[in-house]
Amino acid sequence: ERKQLHRLRREPSRTLDEVDIRLWANAESREDVTGAHALGAAGVGLYRTEFLFLQRSELPGEDEQFRAYRDVVLAMTGRTVTIRTMDIGADKADRTGLALADEPNPALGVRGVRLSLSRTPVFETQLRAILRASGYGPVRILVPMVSNREEMLAVAGMIRRLTRDLREEGHELAEHVPLGAMIEVPAAALALSCFIDTVDFVSIGTNDLTQYLLAADRGNDALGDLYSPLHPAMLKLLQGVIRTARARGKPVAVCGEMAGDPALTPLLLALGLEEFSLHPGTLLEVRRAIRAQRLDALRAAAPALLRCRDRDAIQRWLDRMRAA
Ligand code: PEP
Ligand code: MG
Repeated sequence: ERKQLHRLRREPSRTLDEVDIRLWANAESREDVTGAHALGAAGVGLYRTEFLFLQRSELPGEDEQFRAYRDVVLAMTGRTVTIRTMDIGADKADRTGLALADEPNPALGVRGVRLSLSRTPVFETQLRAILRASGYGPVRILVPMVSNREEMLAVAGMIRRLTRDLREEGHELAEHVPLGAMIEVPAAALALSCFIDTVDFVSIGTNDLTQYLLAADRGNDALGDLYSPLHPAMLKLLQGVIRTARARGKPVAVCGEMAGDPALTPLLLALGLEEFSLHPGTLLEVRRAIRAQRLDALRAAAPALLRCRDRDAIQRWLDRMRAA
C-alpha cells in the first residue's frame, strides 16, 4: 500500500479520461519545499510567509526576506513559486508590533491585505524582496484576505512602482510577476467578476471561506460539524468562483485544507477545479484519487451534487462517486 503510493511519485496527476490536473504544494518550511519537489508538484501554490514575521521581536529586513524567497525559488528548479504576502493579524502570535493588539474580533479585523495596506513601508519591503527573488526563477504573488477591487488595484499599483524602482537600481527581475488574489472572503467570491480583470490568477482559501460563509470560527471545536465545506452554500460559491475564473481564462486553484483531502477530490473535480494546492504530505493520495476518476463522469454528476440539500446528501453523492 505505502509502496504503491510511493510509486506514484513519477506518475502524472491525470484522470482516467486523460485530463491533467495540476497539483501544487503548500509550503512554509524547507522540508515542505524539498518534499514538494521530490513528489513532482507542479510548483508551490501557496508559500506562507508568516513564519518570517512571527516568534521574533524585530521585523525581517528586505535582504533576509529576499534570501528566504530566493532559496525556495532555486530549490524548485524552474517550477513556479507562489509567494503569499503576509497574512498577519491579531489572531497570530505577533511580537513585532505589526498587528493591532487586542482587536475585539481579530478574524474580522485588520489582517491580511488590510494590514499590509495600512503598513505600507513594511509591505513594500516584502514586495521588493519577492520581486527581487523573481530574478532567480518563476514567481507569482498571492494576496490574502482580499474583499474588493480597490485592494487589488492598490497592490498592483505598488508592484508597478516598486518594479520600476528596482530596475532603476539595477536589479534583474522577471519580465512579468503574475498577481493573484486569495478568494476567502464571501464578498470576494460573489463579486469576483468585479475585479477579475485586476488579477492573473486566483486561489480559493477554503479554510477562511468556510469560516466566513458559515459564520463558524475555524478554530472552535465546539462548533462540531458546523465548520465544514460540505454545505450547499459552499458548493454553490465554489462553483461560481471556478466558473467566473475559467470563463475569463484565469487559472483557479483551491489551496485550503479541502484540496488535500482525497475523499473530497471527486467533489472539487466535479465543480470544475483543475488545480489543487495542498500539503506535500497528502499529495500522492490526492494524485491517486484523481487517477481513479473520469472527469467527464464527474462533470455529468455535478448537477446532482449541486441539488444536494444537506451534508448527508453531499456525503452520499461522494460515496456514490467513490464506488463508481
Ligand atoms: C485558507 O484560508 O484556506 C488558506 C489557505 O489560508 P490560511 O489557512 O493560511 O488562512
Ligand atoms: Mg486564509
